[in-house]
Amino acid sequence: MKLAKTLQSLFVTSEAHPLIKTGGLADVAGSLPQALATLKAVRQQAAVNQHILLPGYRSVLAQFDDLKHIADIEHTGHHGVVRLLETKFPDSDITLWLVDAPNCFDRDGGPYADATGQDWPDNAARFAVFSRAAVAIALNQLDLDWQPDIVHCHDWQTGLIPALLSLHEQRPATLFTIHNLAYQGVYSAETFFNLGLPQELWHMHGLEYHGNMAFIKGGLAYADWLTTVSPTYAHEIQGSEFGFGLDGLLRHRTEQLNGIINGVDYDDWDPATDPALVENYDVEHFEKKLSNKTALQKQAGLPVDEDIPVLAFIGRLVWQKGIDVLLESLPQLLRLNIQCIILGSGEHSHEQTLRKLQKRFPDKLAVTIGYNEEYAHQLEAGADMFCMLSRYEPCGLNQLYSLRYGTVPIVRRTGGLADTVIDASQGARSTGFCFNQTTQADFIDAMQRALARYNKPKQWQALAERGMRRDFGWQQSARHYLELYIKVCQQRP
Ligand code: ADP
Repeated sequence: MKLAKTLQSLFVTSEAHPLIKTGGLADVAGSLPQALATLKAVRQQAAVNQHILLPGYRSVLAQFDDLKHIADIEHTGHHGVVRLLETKFPDSDITLWLVDAPNCFDRDGGPYADATGQDWPDNAARFAVFSRAAVAIALNQLDLDWQPDIVHCHDWQTGLIPALLSLHEQRPATLFTIHNLAYQGVYSAETFFNLGLPQELWHMHGLEYHGNMAFIKGGLAYADWLTTVSPTYAHEIQGSEFGFGLDGLLRHRTEQLNGIINGVDYDDWDPATDPALVENYDVEHFEKKLSNKTALQKQAGLPVDEDIPVLAFIGRLVWQKGIDVLLESLPQLLRLNIQCIILGSGEHSHEQTLRKLQKRFPDKLAVTIGYNEEYAHQLEAGADMFCMLSRYEPCGLNQLYSLRYGTVPIVRRTGGLADTVIDASQGARSTGFCFNQTTQADFIDAMQRALARYNKPKQWQALAERGMRRDFGWQQSARHYLELYIKVCQQRP
């Protein structure tokens, strides 16, 4: 195709910060389109005009009072009314479109699950409606007088889009980004037929997956290009350990699979300006981090003592994050001179164990079960070190926040963690501590190395400051995406 000066892109996502968030995808969706919009054209070749498409969840619609009904969408395989609403994405000039399908999205609870954490039983139908709405827009069927050059889809909820678009000659290019391969949107064959999906998509190289259907295969098999959120994860998912049954397909697509590391939105995550902190600081004023530590110890109900290192963990309390190994390790770890603060929610049994451990070690362990954005910022600022024991980690954001906050990351060497944290053994380049396996032995060993370094304050500060100086802002990643958008559009026959 001949490339227009301004590339039109439809960015389709099931969550976007600050409107709705369950994990890292929301952070990416809330930042990348804006970073792309502000990016100066790559070698004068093109700029991007993004439109974001998001489901019209009840809680999202409630955040706007200027929604404009711009189209009705038919043929979504859904009996209720489906309307397309338009507004601007918060604090930006980017067009936000919301798929208002009340039967699917007008309910209390999260985007994928009810308030008890139970997946919505009609998730397949909900995201099929959403995907069909995206396809109608992408094919310019809604009289919007707009057609994207490229549709950028994310995770299984949007997997049907590249598959359905592949059946049309006059379609835009498609890019599918994998944020977490473990979530695949697998449903029965019966669901495939109940959704009225085209028969030609039902085969082992299509949506079929061992007799079931997998939404994510729509993206992996049919998108023109694939990305995931770090180079190491892009490599790992082509092997059986991290491929979750899809490694064969990914190896087949290796020529069209890139890893682009996520950026950090430093407007939200910068200790120099963060409004959640008791005192702002930056790399030139590392000593001001201390008042945040003191405030944190007080808030967490732990003894206030600047000499005791504080270790933090924030995240979902699930197997992926190695939370079971962290829990197992705590009794041994807490015998050392250390305080540990944990913020998270997830599996009930882990939450229970944490509560019990807190009772057993009231002076050493503070636990907050729940989701608390402000406290997450205070923890990043107040802690000395931050641990991530992930069994796999496509990119990971908390280690990037930790680096910027001078909170030394201690991470398992996997996925984006391996790409962004440099082990202390690497001398003048180092920014943290890495360990090989999610096991108690490897984790405790890394912790002991970290504690030994902590006892040499000058060296510790130098390590933390090196991390603070690293730049993981969106500019560079957005540039990679733009180059890829251009390439994918140019390659489309
Ligand atoms: P994932 O997407 O696998 O959950 P990421 O590290 O990519 O992991 O992103 C998680 C995001 O969610 C981070 O911004 C993290 O700070 C935030 N987060 C996770 N759990 C909590 C919590 N309990 N309270 C506040 N923020 C949380």
